Amino acid sequence: MSLAYIGLGSNLDDPEGHVRQALRELDGLPLCQLVAHSSLYATRPIGPQDQPDFINAVAALETKLSPLALLDQLQGLEQRHRRQRLRHWGPRTLDLDLLLYNQDTIMRPRLRVPHPHMHERAFVLAPLEELVSAAQLEPIVLYQQSLAEWLKHLEQNGIQRLSDPGVTTTATV
Ligand code: ATP
Ligand code: CA
Ligand code: CA
Repeated sequence: MSLAYIGLGSNLDDPEGHVRQALRELDGLPLCQLVAHSSLYATRPIGPQDQPDFINAVAALETKLSPLALLDQLQGLEQRHRRQRLRHWGPRTLDLDLLLYNQDTIMRPRLRVPHPHMHERAFVLAPLEELVSAAQLEPIVLYQQSLAEWLKHLEQNGIQRLSDPGVTTTATV
């Protein structure tokens, strides 16, 4: 069994609905089980500002899939949410990023893990830190620094926690 962390984001067509449904769908993927997920967060967009705010969350997933097989499944789920790639960092119905896979470092054209921007994004690190502490998962160290240390340097005004944590799988999604 491997432990993967997935970052979820949506800012089109009922973003909360897309994220909640995606959390259930992650639990339903083959050889995968949702361990826990963070609260939902309302966050301001990065990049182009002329788009709606995002709903973000982070999920912990136990999986027997390889990293690339898991990426295939995540991209399949994005497709089922009718995601269209219109412009870089533009609006989307569902974005699923593979943030971490065990302690692995992966450098492939299709897949880089840890996700190359996660340490600079409060909308990823805040829900991740909440999830790890609420579900009592192994503390995460990124490039020799804890999540709390990374978060100290990041602007968090644009990040609003919406719901209570769901530390016990799909029942709370
Ligand atoms: P960002 O990666 O900065 O968050 P984005 O999520 O908008 O931007 P996408 O258009 O969703 O970017 O993905 C572009 C490509 O990134 C995908 O085709 C995928 O193969 C690749 N990719 C590389 N590493 C990862 C990863 N860790 N998780 C998801 N996709 C990844
Ligand atoms: Ca992304
Ligand atoms: Ca992505």
